[in-house]
Amino acid sequence: MTDEALRWKEKYLQSIEDQEKLERRWEARLDLLRRGLVRSTLAAEGVDRAVDQCMKEMREVVRIDNMDAALSALIPRLERTVLDSEQRRETRVAQVASALSALVSQLQALPLSSDVSRPLKKFSRQVELRASQSREIPLLLGELSGLQGQALASLTNEHHVVRPGLLQRLFGAREAEQEVALAAGPAMQLEIRAPEFPSVVVNVDERRSLPDPLTPVESPELKLPDIETPPADVAQDDVANSEAPEVDVAGNSPDEGPYSLPDTVEPSYSSVAVHIEETLLGLLDELNLPENYQPQAQSMRSRLEHGLNWYELLPILDDLAVLMLAINDSGQQEFQVYLKQLNERLESFQSHLQEASEGHADNSSVARELNNQLREQVDGLQTSVQDAADLDSLKQVLERRLEGLLGTMDEHQQQRDRREQEVAARLQGLAERVTHMEQEAQGYREHLEEQRQKALIDPLTGLANRAAWTERLEQEVADAQQNGSSLLLAILDLDHFKRVNDSYGHLAGDKVLKIVANELRKRLRPTDFIARFGGEEFVLLMPATAMIDGMRQVERLRLAVQACPFHFKGEPVTITVSIGMTGFRVGERSELAFQRADQALYRAKDAGRNQVEPA
Ligand code: GH3
Ligand code: MG
Ligand code: MG
Repeated sequence: MTDEALRWKEKYLQSIEDQEKLERRWEARLDLLRRGLVRSTLAAEGVDRAVDQCMKEMREVVRIDNMDAALSALIPRLERTVLDSEQRRETRVAQVASALSALVSQLQALPLSSDVSRPLKKFSRQVELRASQSREIPLLLGELSGLQGQALASLTNEHHVVRPGLLQRLFGAREAEQEVALAAGPAMQLEIRAPEFPSVVVNVDERRSLPDPLTPVESPELKLPDIETPPADVAQDDVANSEAPEVDVAGNSPDEGPYSLPDTVEPSYSSVAVHIEETLLGLLDELNLPENYQPQAQSMRSRLEHGLNWYELLPILDDLAVLMLAINDSGQQEFQVYLKQLNERLESFQSHLQEASEGHADNSSVARELNNQLREQVDGLQTSVQDAADLDSLKQVLERRLEGLLGTMDEHQQQRDRREQEVAARLQGLAERVTHMEQEAQGYREHLEEQRQKALIDPLTGLANRAAWTERLEQEVADAQQNGSSLLLAILDLDHFKRVNDSYGHLAGDKVLKIVANELRKRLRPTDFIARFGGEEFVLLMPATAMIDGMRQVERLRLAVQACPFHFKGEPVTITVSIGMTGFRVGERSELAFQRADQALYRAKDAGRNQVEPA
């Protein structure tokens, strides 16, 4: 064999070796992609049935087809989708929990006996934790509906007993008189017309058979009249944000000051109703309603805007509960629609990848073809060289054969260039689609964040609410454990707050809550965290604080609340708070520390209230 023929042979062998290296690289990359994809799909398993299905299909695709480098752009996208699904779930849970808490607070704001208020309090403590499991939600709603029934029944029973003191507390003096007259009904009339008739027993029986004054009755005179116009809407006040107590934000005459309580003595149901209506309207506005539930919500809104009667409260709460369940369902449907869209996009990706990998397979067969052609031509070259009789014919044969070889190589090169251009265009298309999907996902994320922020503030006091508390608590506990630093937890509960409501009305109670919240907030250090836990209870976290310093700090808070110069019609009103406090122990779950602080709080109450009790 001549030198030139040897050179050509070497060159040919080198090109085959390069081709094989290229193929090995392809294989290694595909393997990497497969593993990444399988890992992501396994991580997402069990989150959602639709996700599982989608992931399963992806795994199958990975097994049967060759992959393309573009798949490596898809894997991070998949991971983010799983993350998004989790975020959406958490937001839904937080919305349901805060809506349930709002409903419970409304019930707690009613003047209830301790038989009802105690289970209600217990329920309110559990709501947060239990609502985080979606199968608990129907149970929670069922229990809440039962508690509502009990609450209203207990109010109704107290009516049957006709204790003027209670009626006075509930409906005000004039209503109380009317109520007594109504409950006594015909018997009273009989006595008035003919007091000499000793028909007491009959009258008592008749009175028992009278309809329940709290259930819907046709008789117009049984409807409890609104005797007091609700006072100026203190919910408009921005006391919680004002730093200077001298400024009269309540809109009272200048000598009254911000600590003056609205002087609606013993508010009628109508003034509580305004509050309930506003809260329920607020709740309806806050709910992220799908289009098809809008008419239902609109009808509830107009029922609320026309004013709620006492006995209309229960049905509207029931309707609201049904609506919330439906939203929960539809949230899941929306998620499924999103997953379906995602699935379609992934399918289209898949077909692009299929084409790309077919292109790759073509490349391999083209290379094999080239291999065969070259082999044939080199064989032919050998035979021709052996057959050549003289130098001239040898030259001619060689020239012809070399031209053939070069032509084959050229053609192969051109084919490869064309293929590469096609693949590059396909990859470009895929990259653009990925960018588009990322932008869309960013939009979703921002919307979710906005909703999340809204759901974390208590509207009355402007403090963090229970959902925000749960989030922060876990974070602070984790930080403290990681840094080995201390963490204190305090529960603050206003003393005899029911009495404040009973004596001065719920609007006054609300104003006290706002002012106290602000007094507490402005005395905290930047690292402390306070939240309204529910009703008249606040919770406080003090990171990296020694017990002795924490005790001093909460004692200052207690004194500040006691020193608030509240007054009602010129008479001073003292509000006090009891505080239970504990420090987290190493590796301890937050529930245990909370329980300890709660027990300490109860000891503070038992020991006469208005004091701080360490656990
Ligand atoms: P204690 O000293 O034992 O804590 O007595 P208390 O009356 O404060 O305790 P209880 O838990 O029995 O009652 C709390 C009351 O707080 C019940 C409810 O009337 C009132 N309340 C809860 N949330 C609100 C609210 O948002 N506004 C108003 N005005 N009152 C509320
Ligand atoms: Mg309480
Ligand atoms: Mg209390």
